[in-house]
Amino acid sequence: MWGRPLSTVVLIGVIALVSWPLLGSRGALLFLCLMLLGLLLHHLRNLSLLYRWLQDPQSQTMPMGSGAWEYLSSHMLRMLKRQRETESRLSEALSRFQLAGAALPDAVVILDSTDRIEWCNPKAEDYFGLDNQRDRGQQITYILRQPQFVEHLSSNQAGEPLVLKISRPAGEMVLAVQQVPYGDSRKLILGRDITRWERLETTRRDFVANVSHELRTPLTVVGGFLETLDDMDPPDPEMSKRAIELMRQQTSRMTRLVEDLLTLSRLESTQNPLREEDVNVPEMLRALHQDAQVLSAGRHRIRVVLESTDWLKGNTEELRSAFGNLISNAVRYTPENGEIEMRWGLRDAHLTFAVRDTGIGIEPQHIDRLTERFYRVDRSRSRETGGTGLGLAIVKHVLNRHQARLDIQSMPGSGSTFSVVFPETRRLAAGRTPAEKVSA
Ligand code: ADP
Repeated sequence: MWGRPLSTVVLIGVIALVSWPLLGSRGALLFLCLMLLGLLLHHLRNLSLLYRWLQDPQSQTMPMGSGAWEYLSSHMLRMLKRQRETESRLSEALSRFQLAGAALPDAVVILDSTDRIEWCNPKAEDYFGLDNQRDRGQQITYILRQPQFVEHLSSNQAGEPLVLKISRPAGEMVLAVQQVPYGDSRKLILGRDITRWERLETTRRDFVANVSHELRTPLTVVGGFLETLDDMDPPDPEMSKRAIELMRQQTSRMTRLVEDLLTLSRLESTQNPLREEDVNVPEMLRALHQDAQVLSAGRHRIRVVLESTDWLKGNTEELRSAFGNLISNAVRYTPENGEIEMRWGLRDAHLTFAVRDTGIGIEPQHIDRLTERFYRVDRSRSRETGGTGLGLAIVKHVLNRHQARLDIQSMPGSGSTFSVVFPETRRLAAGRTPAEKVSA
């Protein structure tokens, strides 16, 4: 580095000394000054070129200069190249990290030691309403202001995840939020969407509460009668007979409930795929007609209208249970002297089973919820008539397994029609027959 500039200065000095006898002292000094001035201008020019290049350092525009400057330039070029390589390695690593962050199924936010946002992934933008560009450097508690979150964050401990409810335009979302301290007082905030899990948990809790409630009443009645019978001294045969009859009614109510629960659990089990067979629906309806008459005990006029003799691809047992539930509801919710009609026929090429009654009907606001477990419009009427509150939930599950849908038309005070519409693919055509009527 020092060698070449010094040797140039020494060379100029030597030439000035040699020219001394020839040019005289003034001439030699003038020569020396001119040469040194030229050298200075040369360095100043290279310095200015280097300064200009530094404003936008690109390897292609690097001023190569000469002498020591050339050495300096090639040294800087090498440094520039190394720096570019490091930069590209870093940006590759960064983009790999960002891609991994974007692919994560959970929200991730990186906070600095003062809880300011350094980075967040797209899921965090979605769940917490953050913006990775806009909110960088922003205190996270300015954006997520829920007091439980602020308290959780200030605890500075991983601990149990915090369950946070976030309102979004698409509805409420439930998140499990956890902080993970790392490095020098930094934090990772992780957020997992547990909305579905929470909903299932609520359904499960409600279900257990409902079943317990349904079982408690009959058990209390049976327990009460047993105590009365025990205390009876001397036994009163008339009273005992009545108590035994009432206990029998309560135990059969519990049995029905347990049977319906078992049916539902079988239908819901993923290990129980639909066993398909050829179902003779007209035959089944004739048998169900008999059952309905037994249940009605002559209080209603019941008839079957067979517009089609087509069979169905499905499961006989499940369909009998679904159709039976609809028919038993029609009988139970239709006052004395009412009419009930079961119809089997084609509706726009779809095989349809419909039960029409002239019963109490249903207010429109209840219709969408009827297939929920234990949903009843009138609790006492359902219990009085021996309902478990699970009938339509069973119907819904059976129909889902057959890709069929339930249509409910009803007018309070005038009656209801429950129609089961099967997909065309389930039809087993057996040749159309003229409408055949079986009347009660
Ligand atoms: P339940 O055992 O109470 O009858 P379901 O699941 O079979 O339970 O029916 C749910 C509710 O739907 C019933 O409690 C009743 O209020 C109403 N419902 C069902 N079928 C009819 C009908 N044919 N007419 C009037 N209301 C009905």
